Amino acid sequence: MQYVLTSGGLNPPRTLAELLEEVNHATPKQVFFFDSRPFLGGDLSYAVNWTDTGSCPNIIPIFLNPKRATAEVVGHELMHAWTEFFLGFEDERHYVDRTDQPMTMMVNIVQSMVLDCVVLREMKRRDGFNCDQFRRDLVEAAIASITPYERGMMHVTPFGQLVGAENLAVPLALPEFYELRREDKKVVQELWKICRRQDPAMAWVAEKYAEALRRHGFDTCRGSGSPSTNACSRPSSFLA
Ligand SMILES: [Zn+2]
Repeated sequence: MQYVLTSGGLNPPRTLAELLEEVNHATPKQVFFFDSRPFLGGDLSYAVNWTDTGSCPNIIPIFLNPKRATAEVVGHELMHAWTEFFLGFEDERHYVDRTDQPMTMMVNIVQSMVLDCVVLREMKRRDGFNCDQFRRDLVEAAIASITPYERGMMHVTPFGQLVGAENLAVPLALPEFYELRREDKKVVQELWKICRRQDPAMAWVAEKYAEALRRHGFDTCRGSGSPSTNACSRPSSFLA
């Protein structure tokens, strides 16, 4: 399934239309939307979307779940392109050996964790986006990553563990930035307990991620790279 977002097509809210307009001014590439569900094995309960500004010569593909494509979700993905084009915020580093797919993917996942904070910061600076969705998604993603342990399940791949570690680290390191509520913080605390008990290796990585985010932040280009560097150097111990 493919979508093209134009100001006359889907009639996006003004804030979103302005953002799209700005991205269109910054690049000759056209933004295309693709359905992410076939790549993710179906409809997840929280947003998993991605934007690729570099791989295609003529278009910027944005993958998202159309059932969950609110203005905020679309805005988040467009903002990835915006922060790259207008602020130079893109971590262009890749794992040195591109044939090593697991490590390459791991680096991408860690970079996304940091860049998403930059994206949220810029969305909060604009009027018109309801950023509460990102708070809810953050907590929902952590719940989805951790509660299966209580039913005797575990992640089948290191990627599941990596994503789970991120889902625990971000709400621990940046609760105020994501505007977590008191009940969210309680939920996150419980999830941490479960993880420490059931998967200490993953909890260890999550602690290192949180420590890197706290120490280096994400607020400058230099800062946005440092947590990635720090975090990437840690978790390889449990990679296959
Ligand atoms: Zn993102």
